[in-house]
Amino acid sequence: MRYSQMFIPTVKEIPAEAEIPSHRLMIRAGFIRKLASGTYSYLPLGWRSLLKIVNIVRQEMNAAGAQEISMPIIQPMELWAKTGRDKDYGETMCRFTDRHGREGALAPTAEEVVTSLVAADISSYKQLPINLYQINTKFRDEFRPRFGVLRSREFLMKDAYSFNTDANSLNESYQQMYEAYRRIFSRCGLPFLIVEAETGEMGGSQSHQFTVPCETGEDIIVQTDDLSYAANLEKAEVDPLPREDASADIEPLEEVHTPGVGTIEDVCAFLGTQPAQMIKTLIYEVGETQTAVCLIRGDHEVNNEKLTQVCGGVHIELADEKTIREVSGAAVGFAGPMGLAGKVDKLIIDHAIAAMITGVTGANKTDYHVRNVVPGRDFPLEGGNVVIADVRNATQSDTHGGKKLLFTRGIEVGQVFKLGTKYSELLGAKFDDETGADKPCLMGCYGIGINRILAAAIEIGNDEKGCILPISIAPFEIEVLPINNDSPDVVAEAERIYRQLVEAGADVLLDDRNARPGVKFNDADLIGVPLRLVVGDRSLREGDVEIKRRREPKPTATPASEAVAKAMEIIDQMKQELLASG
Ligand code: ATP
Ligand code: MG
Repeated sequence: MRYSQMFIPTVKEIPAEAEIPSHRLMIRAGFIRKLASGTYSYLPLGWRSLLKIVNIVRQEMNAAGAQEISMPIIQPMELWAKTGRDKDYGETMCRFTDRHGREGALAPTAEEVVTSLVAADISSYKQLPINLYQINTKFRDEFRPRFGVLRSREFLMKDAYSFNTDANSLNESYQQMYEAYRRIFSRCGLPFLIVEAETGEMGGSQSHQFTVPCETGEDIIVQTDDLSYAANLEKAEVDPLPREDASADIEPLEEVHTPGVGTIEDVCAFLGTQPAQMIKTLIYEVGETQTAVCLIRGDHEVNNEKLTQVCGGVHIELADEKTIREVSGAAVGFAGPMGLAGKVDKLIIDHAIAAMITGVTGANKTDYHVRNVVPGRDFPLEGGNVVIADVRNATQSDTHGGKKLLFTRGIEVGQVFKLGTKYSELLGAKFDDETGADKPCLMGCYGIGINRILAAAIEIGNDEKGCILPISIAPFEIEVLPINNDSPDVVAEAERIYRQLVEAGADVLLDDRNARPGVKFNDADLIGVPLRLVVGDRSLREGDVEIKRRREPKPTATPASEAVAKAMEIIDQMKQELLASG
């Protein structure tokens, strides 16, 4: 392609709204333009890169035996009501009512649709296993779209769904996808960690997340210091804390007047205590009809995924003010565990609370707290509806299996799930087995964020000059830069090299603009083409051109007659390096 004929609107200014390098660079390099919050247009360079990623994903999915299909982006709400996920996805779903009053949503994912598809046309074990995938647009009305295409409201996702007859077959499909993912991310030049993940609103029994380690990532990965265990923060299980030192005197309960002091920080300041001494009492609505109280230390954070599991996997939500008043008898901020067990369906106590000797908590009376609350004495630690569990986020001071924890940030680029029979049972995806018995399919689902791969690659591959992209997903593999446009020899030689590179099968950009060398160099660095070949007056007089990898500081002089062969050799070598990294 010729630069002069392409739409590559690079910009010097740093876009004000972009907080992280990949977002800034994708705008500056003319890859994307924002339309509205969380929606972006791809310009020719960005789209070329994106299509390269799509190709890699498609090749690896096909090689792993998955079959590409295409399902509608408009999905009927009644299908979502059948699995109850219309509630789980909540406001994240872009919903609409059509002219006939039918409720619909823009696809945030497609388990319901693909399962009903299979339900209609698969009836025998002989038709299984199958793995169906699509690469198309998904919509999620993210609460906080940000970081450009890393978290957008509209994005390209590859979603695959396997349908299996039994656990062994599901394991096999899961493993095939897992291996395909390793190859996909390696071929895209991304370093990645594979960590255990929570199944969340997807449901199911097992999940792994593929995460690109990166300081600006929104995900937190927890690993043991011997690296034998890795999980994301939603999933990471911690050891119960040892029981606190019981040698201190245990004082009787003491009610203290704390007018208008409702938050943990305020109570601590007011009473001269520490958050770790506070027993936070949170009241939840569980499913449609139940309530639960969750006790957690003041310095800890509730882990919603873990708490949901303890509540039987149903939708949970912090109770509203009215329910809090009904249950605790006090204004928000003054609930405590004393006497609450009998008023709710479950009293869920985090391990760390059970390890406390005494604590401070709300008195179930507006404007009052109590000191010297003793777990086991002032509220039950066992019996009836009491559950002691790990329901909080891991912290730096926790351990797992006795080992210290390391925290790393990362970008989730893909996730695989074993779903079991949740969807097939509810939507009737059943088959007759060898004996003629009717059974629900076992399912797996496997997602990849295509746009996130590109953004993550730039997030970890950049310098002050611009993007540094892997050869497999850069918009071009090589750029030819004639830097003296007024010299007919330079122009002719650049044209010859360009033509021969195209003939040799390289993906080449020729910067044929009538621009100063500095402009050309800056743009080449900004858009991040991995290899550049400069044709200039001075070296050409010696019979040379200059070849430079984007990452290298200095070019290498190469005889012009050998330049094409040399460039093709480096391109090939760069591709081999990516394959080898997997
Ligand atoms: P996140 O936790 O980041 O919101 P998720 O776990 O909800 O993502 P999945 O349902 O697992 O996402 O979707 C599969 C893949 O789609 C993710 O691994 C991610 O790469 C991509 N993805 C999800 N949400 C977005 C988004 N808002 N913008 C861009 N890509 C996304
Ligand atoms: Mg995910």
